[in-house]
Amino acid sequence: MDHTETLLDIQDLRVEFPISIGTVRAVQGVSLTLKRGEVMGLVGESGCGKSTLGFSLLRLLRPPGRIASGRILYHGRDIVAMEEKELLAVRGTGIAMIFQDPLTSLNPLMSISEHFVETLRTHEKGISRHDALERAGGMLESLGIGTNRLHEYPHQMSGGMRQRIMIGLALIMKPDLLVADEPTTALDVIVEAQFLDLLQTLRESLNLAIILITHNLGNVAQLSDRITVMYGGTIAEVAPAQALFDEPLHPYTQGLLASIPNIRLEQPRLHTMPGSTPDLVDPPSGCIFHPRCGRAMDICSRQRPPAFLRNGHEVSCWLYGDAP
Ligand code: SF4
Repeated sequence: MDHTETLLDIQDLRVEFPISIGTVRAVQGVSLTLKRGEVMGLVGESGCGKSTLGFSLLRLLRPPGRIASGRILYHGRDIVAMEEKELLAVRGTGIAMIFQDPLTSLNPLMSISEHFVETLRTHEKGISRHDALERAGGMLESLGIGTNRLHEYPHQMSGGMRQRIMIGLALIMKPDLLVADEPTTALDVIVEAQFLDLLQTLRESLNLAIILITHNLGNVAQLSDRITVMYGGTIAEVAPAQALFDEPLHPYTQGLLASIPNIRLEQPRLHTMPGSTPDLVDPPSGCIFHPRCGRAMDICSRQRPPAFLRNGHEVSCWLYGDAP
């Protein structure tokens, strides 16, 4: 797929959560771009900042979270600096988000049709109920759900179907970017595969860009054009999906891939990474991965590595470049 136009340009984004014992530096200077129609997998251990980054894109951080600095340019307009009115227009019509558990996002007292009518009326003032229901029916059909289910309630549907409804609600206003935060975690393996197929179809038919946030590397391998690996609120590596799996460069990415069970290969023991995730109130100096890295050098604890370009990977590690 030809991706040329930059849709999203995140520049040196910092997100903090002030708490009683200090400030959690959840995202520490992340820069990232996404092209129109591109699928970016965002992976890393729990607590690495990937979901915080996703929520920041729509300024949906839960208090006391705040964007401390940086810019998020969406079609060249800075979301961080946007007035509330402009931001509301971007949410839903430009950037949409779906979450892990659709039950927490769907109102159990409202039928599926009411969800669609409410969403459409929020963004399209004056749309008639008849037109809204017609659009909702069309969306349901494209998701492989019969229009006869429109009048059902969320509890009458399976988990997989609810997740499809969520995606339908997210896409009904034809956004060009979907942020999907662990969208398949609550689904069983077969429904998960169907859901990923659906995302692939929608991405092609709508030229939809997707940021797929997940801890499941299998999911990102299947769907993503590029993969961003996060560690401790920073980006460790960004690379085309196949290149990342074929030749991971950052020691953290290498450890992450070695820890995936592979039933086709003789793999008597899984790799486990020594140490634990970093304290983000008082993060390690220099490369945030250095206390766990088997290849750490002198400079690693002193200076944070910039992103070096190597074989099409952007890799933040002193193994691939020298200090200026
Ligand atoms: Fe390891 Fe140093 Fe590279 Fe960090 S910069 S990943 S500590 S070698």
